[in-house]
Parts: sequence; structure tokens; C-alpha cells
Amino acid sequence: MQVLTRVAEVRSHLDAVRAAGRSVGVVPTMGALHRGHASLVDRAAAECDEVVVTVFVNPLQFAAGEDLEAYPRDLDGDVSLAADHGAAVVFAPTEDEMYPDGRGAVLTQVAVPALSERFEGASRPTHFSGVCTVVAKLFNVVGPSRAYFGEKDFQQLAVVSRMVRDLSFPVDVVGCPTVREPDGLAMSSRNVYLSAEERRQSVVLSAALADAVEAFGAGVREGAALEQVMADRVATAPAGVLDYAVVVDARTLEPRGRADEHSRLLVAVAFGATRLLDNASVLGPIGGARG
Ligand code: AMP
Repeated sequence: MQVLTRVAEVRSHLDAVRAAGRSVGVVPTMGALHRGHASLVDRAAAECDEVVVTVFVNPLQFAAGEDLEAYPRDLDGDVSLAADHGAAVVFAPTEDEMYPDGRGAVLTQVAVPALSERFEGASRPTHFSGVCTVVAKLFNVVGPSRAYFGEKDFQQLAVVSRMVRDLSFPVDVVGCPTVREPDGLAMSSRNVYLSAEERRQSVVLSAALADAVEAFGAGVREGAALEQVMADRVATAPAGVLDYAVVVDARTLEPRGRADEHSRLLVAVAFGATRLLDNASVLGPIGGARG
């Protein structure tokens, strides 16, 4: 497996790969890789001839005061996980390589405002344009035919899918199921920030989703009632502050007054400075035990 840091090296390597008729899949990440990321690499390796894992903590998607400097970094661990799961290349550029004129000098932004303003975008207004801009850049550098994203970040998956559709990127976006800890907590690089007590209470996110799935299964269709079910469960965690617990249409992310089989449950809870996200189809299933 190769670790490349230069755009030009990645391009010339992958030009040769494509010229040999081999398909390229990409798994964009910010590193600190865990089993959730590994599942994306596994899927990419099963479906593509050559898998590129990108590791780049993208400053454009962090606002001032967020955790850019503190974000966990472990390139050696990332390289060995990527290799173990069948990646051919880790592309780990420096910030200078991605933004040679400085991050403040990036004059072009890609944005999908209609899908970016609510939920995560409400507390992070510049986040998704930062994500779209770096994903567009990575697609232009790597030239993948497929790109793998986690359902864990459901709004991100919706935003990127829409960008690809609207701008005709020749890339299939593949959404992959959320990988969870045994108690149900969705795996995230940010889980390391949780204290032992916060970690114990963080099970309320997946438990809230499981409660709402159960209520939907029992016939509850009122969006507000399902949202209340989730909020009630989150309220059992004294250290957690509910940001949102909503029922939306999975395709448009529009709120749903009445839930149906296309509805998605989205929940975000802050534990101190750490915001945790989770989501599920109203049909479930949600792995892990109930809290
Ligand atoms: P990140 O490094 O957190 O930006 O995540 C990189 C990619 O991995 C994104 O597409 C995430 O949605 C995905 N991902 C993160 N955590 C999980 C998880 N627990 N299960 C599945 N995919 C995940």
C-alpha cells in the first residue's frame, strides 16, 4: 500500500490505474479511523479494483472555536487500518497541498443551501459548504467512479449526493450503514472526547431512535409524537442537552408531519463540548442493546 501526500503523485498513479481499465473507489475521511470507517473501506474494496482512503482534517468545514486543532490524529494507525481492509492508497495531503494559497484564499465554494441550513447547519452554518468544497476537490484529484460515505452523517450523505447529482459528477455515491459500539453508540472519532460518565449516558441517542422505531412499529405516525418519544429518552441523560430530535423525509430532509416508511429519525445531543449525532430509518433496525 502506498501513502501519498501530493496531488500530482495521486493523479499520476491513478491515471495509470484507470488506463489499465481498473475502477477507482474513494473513502473520504478525517482520519482517526475506527471500525465505522473500516466498513466503508471493506465495501469499497469489494466493489472497486483500487481503493483510495483520503485522510485530511479539512479546516474549511470547521468554524472558529470548533475542535480543528484538537481533532484526533493518528496517521500510522490510519495507514495500517486502511491496508488491513484492502486499500491501495492512503492520500494524506498537508493543508498547504490542498489550499496552497491559504485556507482564507479559497475563493470558490460549493454549497447546497437548501439541504444545509437546518439541523447540523443551524449550529454550523459554514460546515456543509466546507464539506462540499473539499469533497469536490478530492473527486477532482482522485477521479473515482464510486465514493463511500456513512449513513452515520445522514445530512452530509444527502448534501453530497445532491451536489453530485446537481453538478453531474461522474461518481456513484454509496451510503453505508452505521457501525455501532455493542451498547448502540454510533462509532465516531469524536467519542474519545467523552468522559466515562458521558460515555455511559451517550447510549440515549441510539436508545431514543430505538424507542421511536418501536413506536412507529406500534402504529404511531404523528411526527411530533415520535419526536417527543425521542426527546423523552434523551431527557433521561442528565449530562446531555438535546439539540434536535426530528422526523424528516429521507430524500429531502423536510420535516414530516406524518411519518411513513420513507421517514428518517435524526437526533443530536451535546455532552459538554461534544455534539453526538445519530439517525435511523423509522423501520430500523438499530444495532446494539437498548439503554
Ligand atoms: P469522518 O472521518 O468522521 O469525517 O468520517 C468519514 C466517513 O466515515 C464519513 O462518510 C462518515 O459518515 C463515515 N463514518 C463515520 N463514522 C461511521 C460509523 N460509525 N459507521 C459508518 N460510517 C461512519
